[in-house]
Amino acid sequence: MCYSIPGKVISINDNAALLDYFGEKKEALVDVEDIKSGDYVFAQGGVIVQKLGEDEAQSILAGWEELFFKLQEKDRILSEENPPPLNPLPPGEGKQSAFPPPLTGGGEACPEHSRRGEGGLDILPILQKNRAGETLTKDELLSLLKCDNKEELALLYKTANSIRHKIHKNASCVHGIIEFSNYCKNDCAYCGIRSENRNIERYRMGVDEIVNEVVSAVNNYGFKAFVLQSGEDSYFTTERLVEIISRIRKSVGVLLILSIGERDLECYRELYDAGARGVLIRFETASPSLYSSIHTTLQYENRLTLLKGVKDIGYLIATGSLIGLPGQSEEDILNDILFAHSLNTEMYSFGPLIPHPDTPLAGSHAVSLDAMLKMIAVTRLITQDGNILVTSAVEKLFGKEGVRQALMAGGNSMMINLTPEKYGRLYSIYPGKGDGSGNIRGKITETLSLLHSLGRAPMDVGM
Ligand code: SAH
Repeated sequence: MCYSIPGKVISINDNAALLDYFGEKKEALVDVEDIKSGDYVFAQGGVIVQKLGEDEAQSILAGWEELFFKLQEKDRILSEENPPPLNPLPPGEGKQSAFPPPLTGGGEACPEHSRRGEGGLDILPILQKNRAGETLTKDELLSLLKCDNKEELALLYKTANSIRHKIHKNASCVHGIIEFSNYCKNDCAYCGIRSENRNIERYRMGVDEIVNEVVSAVNNYGFKAFVLQSGEDSYFTTERLVEIISRIRKSVGVLLILSIGERDLECYRELYDAGARGVLIRFETASPSLYSSIHTTLQYENRLTLLKGVKDIGYLIATGSLIGLPGQSEEDILNDILFAHSLNTEMYSFGPLIPHPDTPLAGSHAVSLDAMLKMIAVTRLITQDGNILVTSAVEKLFGKEGVRQALMAGGNSMMINLTPEKYGRLYSIYPGKGDGSGNIRGKITETLSLLHSLGRAPMDVGM
């Protein structure tokens, strides 16, 4: 099975192609040569990464067609059941319901239901206001993040899921990630591969090894988007990275996303020219004071300048923060979401801090699943159409059930770790990070069956 469904090019306007996926239309940037109307292509992150022959495309589509519509129907039912959170209810039934009452014709919230606390649900008018297309105030967003009533939270998650469904339908994206070096010159207080940690064995993969792993993962397993991640390892000079990227791009059609930390913009420009198209770099926290309390080698201003600079180069941006940092408040978390949104982030990557015993944050406490789900759901309310990653740290802390709940609270994107087994356990940014690495087929099967159980299908929905 392929993790990406081919799209058919319907029209091309300058560099933008309109693609058709079983009737769903999506735009994508033409980034490979000789694309014309009628061609079949794979796109990722809104970028065409590969052209396919018609026979190959037809046979993949034939394999998908029946399943695609079944999955779409399942997603529709799951995101609207019980009843649909923000769809009109029959008159008079709204007051006692856990779900928001009807919206009036002009999209205005019904005044009868606009008072706080109606039906015992304080957040209900806020969700209605969001549904009506009005911008929520910071206080309103904060009250969502501070909410701890189970019934209200269920409503928040359902609302976020219904927005995800309305905008992305059942499209989800599954990316591969390979961690090619755990050498790092930085000393981030939360991170197990920080330079000060003498208790880990360091490794770095060779250039040929990295290229071969990525090319074979793309060829054997069908990944169309791939993250190359490492600590900040100066062994990997611009020249070496250019070689890796251009060799991969020459061999396979794949969206390459770099997660290699801070480099100067000239380096990122050369890596873009070599064929990289995305950058995954978290700002970790949007609070300058929190940032300086957990970093000694990195500066907040530099990270922001870098994020804006790589965006200007043309990269797709994946960014976000850690949740559960000591001293972090709900206001800080809200500022993280708003900041990521202000950067025009293509993929939001918020993840829980998992305390690592060999770091200064060893004694901190991981957040609850609800804290994580609230962050994802509020992000969905704010971004509407962004892609929200359900991170591997969510799976580590909360298991498959946590991942499932995150996908049902607004999340729509996942990654599968393809780091070779002998290295995976050494990329220990948090304890137990590489557990279970090696069984790639098993991981893919598990991920796909989880997605399918929720009616999700992997097709291009942005990064
Ligand atoms: N050098 C790259 C990759 C860093 S590791 C870069 O700077 O972007 C990727 C992410 O792992 C970091 O951005 C951080 O948010 C996360 N991370 C590090 N330690 C962690 C921990 N103990 N728990 C959860 N996530 C952690």
